Amino acid sequence: MAEDSAGQERLDKITHLIAHSMQTEVCSIYLFRDDETLELCASEGLKPEAVHQTRMRLGEGLVGRVAKTSGVINTANAPQEPGFRYMPETGEEIYTSFLGVPIQRLGQSLGVLVVQSKDAREYSSDELYALEVVAMVLAEMTELGAFIGEGDALSARHQQPALFRGIQGQEGAAEGHIFLHEPRVVITNPIADDTEVELINLREAVDTLRVSVDDLLSSAKSGDKDQLQVLEAYRMFANSRGWLRRMEADINNGLSAAAAVEKEQSAARARFAQVPDAYMRERLNDLDDLSNKLLRILTGQGANTGAEMPDDPVLVARNIGPGELLEYGSKLKGIILEEGSVGSHAAIVARALAIPLVINATGIVAEALNGDHVMIDGDEGQVHLRPDENIVTAFRDKIAMLAEAQSRYASIRDLPATARCGSTVCLQMNAGLMADLPSLVGSGAEGVGLFRTELQFLIRNKVPRRSELAALYARVLDAADGRRVVFRTLDIGSDKVLPYMKPQDEPNPALGWRAIRVGLDKPGVLRMQLQALLRAANGRPLTVMFPFVAQFEEYRAAREQVDKAVAGEEKLGHVLPETLEIGAMLETPSLAFAPRKFFEEVEFISIGGNDLKQFFFAADRENERVRRRYDTLNVSFLTFIEDIVNRCRETDTPVSFCGEDAGRPVEALCLAAMGLRTLSMRPASIGPVKHLLRRSNLDEARSVIEDARNRGDQSVRPAIMEWLKGQN
Ligand code: PEP
Ligand code: MG
Repeated sequence: MAEDSAGQERLDKITHLIAHSMQTEVCSIYLFRDDETLELCASEGLKPEAVHQTRMRLGEGLVGRVAKTSGVINTANAPQEPGFRYMPETGEEIYTSFLGVPIQRLGQSLGVLVVQSKDAREYSSDELYALEVVAMVLAEMTELGAFIGEGDALSARHQQPALFRGIQGQEGAAEGHIFLHEPRVVITNPIADDTEVELINLREAVDTLRVSVDDLLSSAKSGDKDQLQVLEAYRMFANSRGWLRRMEADINNGLSAAAAVEKEQSAARARFAQVPDAYMRERLNDLDDLSNKLLRILTGQGANTGAEMPDDPVLVARNIGPGELLEYGSKLKGIILEEGSVGSHAAIVARALAIPLVINATGIVAEALNGDHVMIDGDEGQVHLRPDENIVTAFRDKIAMLAEAQSRYASIRDLPATARCGSTVCLQMNAGLMADLPSLVGSGAEGVGLFRTELQFLIRNKVPRRSELAALYARVLDAADGRRVVFRTLDIGSDKVLPYMKPQDEPNPALGWRAIRVGLDKPGVLRMQLQALLRAANGRPLTVMFPFVAQFEEYRAAREQVDKAVAGEEKLGHVLPETLEIGAMLETPSLAFAPRKFFEEVEFISIGGNDLKQFFFAADRENERVRRRYDTLNVSFLTFIEDIVNRCRETDTPVSFCGEDAGRPVEALCLAAMGLRTLSMRPASIGPVKHLLRRSNLDEARSVIEDARNRGDQSVRPAIMEWLKGQN
């Protein structure tokens, strides 16, 4: 198999060799041409004219069934098997017995390997095993492009165009080339040159793996029970005799150590896919990680393979944290995640950087290769991988159209967001990176309604020094040039994990020790941050707000920290801010019901709609499945927002909204109709939101909402969309 010959010739040779050595009349290789279609690509014994002509759909006939179920079919009487379908052009009617095994790599089905013979016999377990090993090598060779040849018939799977439908994470369209966040391990030599050496390599790698799992376990001894259980399962798997024995047997049968690990991993993955219980599947996935670790030990390929980043990188990952994403920064043209969620902070970072993002693009990690040409449509949540000419042309038109819309928005940049009824809404921007600041002028934002200070902590590998922070905040104020900037103190915890902080093992991190709770319990960093802010202001006005305040007392305690910091700065002879405004984010329903005194004392309130919505509906903002169940325009939620606005009105407390929904035009319109007059959003949204607000009458929108509420509608969206359609 290692011989150097062209793709088709190689396939023909393999089928000939197998048929001959297994003493069976037929050996055929079927490979996937697309996700649904298998094609007979080589055969010894079937009619040659059927090769590249015979095709079947996934699940169709015995071959299609092997591919679909990833299971083996071994029968002495094929025509009697359920689902049997006879393909007349192949001349297979004279063969009675059938043995088909899946050709799969890492749980991905690539094709089917079949042997058939005239006499009615069931193949022995040795024969089955041998065929499975060959199928495994074929899978590796398919992946390496060994069967690529002239013409479409043998074009590699990874060279064909593929469309992925995911979910919109951040709008926008972009063209670029794939860069894999964690490239797959590539096995360059599936066949053992020296069995003894491969056996030694495997044992050594397993030993290294065991040591690293033991280390993990001893460092997690005090951790929570779930994590320990997972690690114990890791250890059990790593020490499993059966696992090692199976891999050793694979090596003795001619595979390299890495190929043997992957064969076992592949078989396990195919089994996992059949497990109906989601919790069990998750646990089994943990074990899959272990095989990956072993493969990385064996091949020396780390997450960083040294692959060169293209000039126009589109990042592909299973999932990614906000810190990791920030490390890539704005050089990315697009981001595609196999998992991910619209409400995650990684999505917020993508939005802050205005990078188109598609999430839930199932299968993208297995299909995309470094350097593949890709077009990503964030509006539709679609990804065109290796697009053909037509798509490329249509897509480039779309990019041009988007640019045109942007220039339309630019024409209203300096006009106020005054609605037809005469009310004006103040539009501000959310920021968190220095890279955001040029947008302050470009977007037409009237100020920064939310500066997420934690982003600066997430991009570093140690706590920034006070002087560094002071210099940075001063630059933010310089760039704002007199416009108001609302600095939010550090909001860490939940999914915003600092690499240099001891991770907290919490069962529900979103409800855990995060944001102001950390700030108050360990006030060192909060104090340092407040000092940095006071120094940055250096006599200019300063606005600070605290995240995640759940009760009045927390606001008071945080405010006390400010007073202390001010007193300290004064003592040191530093210039104090010209004015000091201290507010709270309303992100938990409890704060909406705080005593009136809180509303009187707090200087302003900013509604953090992302968190507020997750707690209002008890629906994790990171869990797409439940997050999408509840519309922001749900009548109960809008009523709740209106109640908050009314409470603030009673005490003359300024109130704004800074969650992601403020940046969605229809949502922004409804929030304004509920009485909000300040909205803070990502810069790219200001144009579209202003455009819609200027064309709308808020009083009318309000009465549409009122009617929907009186009718008992669940969400006002249908009524509002209908009403908008009727507008000019
Ligand atoms: C919010 O929760 O709405 C918010 C603005 O804060 P973050 O998204 O950073 O949690
Ligand atoms: Mg929040």
